[in-house]
Amino acid sequence: MRTHITTLAAVRNLGILAHVDAGKTTVTERILFATGTTHKRGEVHDGTTVTDFDPQERDRGITIFAAAVSCAWDEHRINLIDTPGHVDFADEVERSLRVLDGAVAVFDAVAGVEPQSESVWRQADRHGVPRIAFVNKMDRAGADLDRAVDSIRRRLHPAPLVVQLPIGAEDTFTGVVDLVRMRALVWADDVGTATRVPVPEELRQEAARRRRELEEKVAELHPAALEEFCDRETLSGDTLAATLRDLTRSGDGVVVLCGSAYRNRGIEPLLDAVVAYLPSPLDVPAVRGVHDGAEQERAADPEAPFAGLVFKVNAGATGRLACVRVYAGTIEKGDTVWDPGTGRTERVARILRVMADRHLQLDRAVAGDIVALVGVKSARVGATLCDPGAPLLLEPPRAAEPVVSVA
Ligand code: GDP
Repeated sequence: MRTHITTLAAVRNLGILAHVDAGKTTVTERILFATGTTHKRGEVHDGTTVTDFDPQERDRGITIFAAAVSCAWDEHRINLIDTPGHVDFADEVERSLRVLDGAVAVFDAVAGVEPQSESVWRQADRHGVPRIAFVNKMDRAGADLDRAVDSIRRRLHPAPLVVQLPIGAEDTFTGVVDLVRMRALVWADDVGTATRVPVPEELRQEAARRRRELEEKVAELHPAALEEFCDRETLSGDTLAATLRDLTRSGDGVVVLCGSAYRNRGIEPLLDAVVAYLPSPLDVPAVRGVHDGAEQERAADPEAPFAGLVFKVNAGATGRLACVRVYAGTIEKGDTVWDPGTGRTERVARILRVMADRHLQLDRAVAGDIVALVGVKSARVGATLCDPGAPLLLEPPRAAEPVVSVA
């Protein structure tokens, strides 16, 4: 039991949300590269990116189908749930949002908030999904973090909490000052990992000013931080990090980071922020469902009766794959599960964890996890699968609301 809980706390079910072209695919690709999931870097333009499973998707150059890919970072498992950025797939975004616990919203450092980033942001608001913002393409001519943050504040209305100061701009964007820990990370080239260095002399004053602004902002939003700030007139790095985590999880603030996915800069601090600030399956409300007309809640407890939601069905080389978010209980290979929507039982022949380039066969999956089931023949997208001895029909994903484009 204890090990289950430790494992659950180290899971992040993460979505990457963005306007088409903001760099979602490239960010995903670089995350898989940084976490060692892939050793070859795929590029969007040559159709080798590993999250694009479907030939149609490669042809169209847009991410159509949500794929779930697992990777590891800092002793955490990150299940990346791809969410389409194209407005025609709003229902699919809705289904992805339903099964993830936190998201990274990617913005273009030149364009800032674009109409589709706005609509997907509103969808995430409706689902109460805690977010981190990643201002991408800092290497582009005209990239401007402050302006992008300003457009996030004006158009999306969160309280942006900017935790980095870029080092260099456009072509010379080479690193970031981490304002929480007051240290710098620099990238020597486009393939290597970050090197930690002291804050460059010429940026010390500016970094101190921005750190102060960040402290004042979090103190304004968080009573415990305010108390420490009033007592000591400053906040320690640990208090600041803990406060940023609370504000992210409650949705009262959005941590903002920056980088250039294309040039492989800013990905490691982004992963650190995902682990530090976004919630685990234990930190989100229990799932709700109905049985015999009565509403029930089921917590993310591996010992509870099994309940999961099918959020994606793929025809893979291994047969029909049903991607399932396990909300409660444990499912084992060979188990029989019930689909209360159709009244049918299904037998789980195999349980797979989808990595970027391969499947791992699992004996079981527990609450909080995202896996693909083989052998589930008829359950459709949106279906509940549950323990036949403890039936529960989970609320299906909603249809997306019509998108109102803001030009
Ligand atoms: P998606 O539509 O959001 O998945 O965006 P992609 O990842 O496909 O990226 C769209 C285009 O922007 C591609 O041509 C990428 O090579 C390019 N791109 C992505 N990230 C960056 C970046 O950090 N800097 C620059 N200059 N281009 C980028």
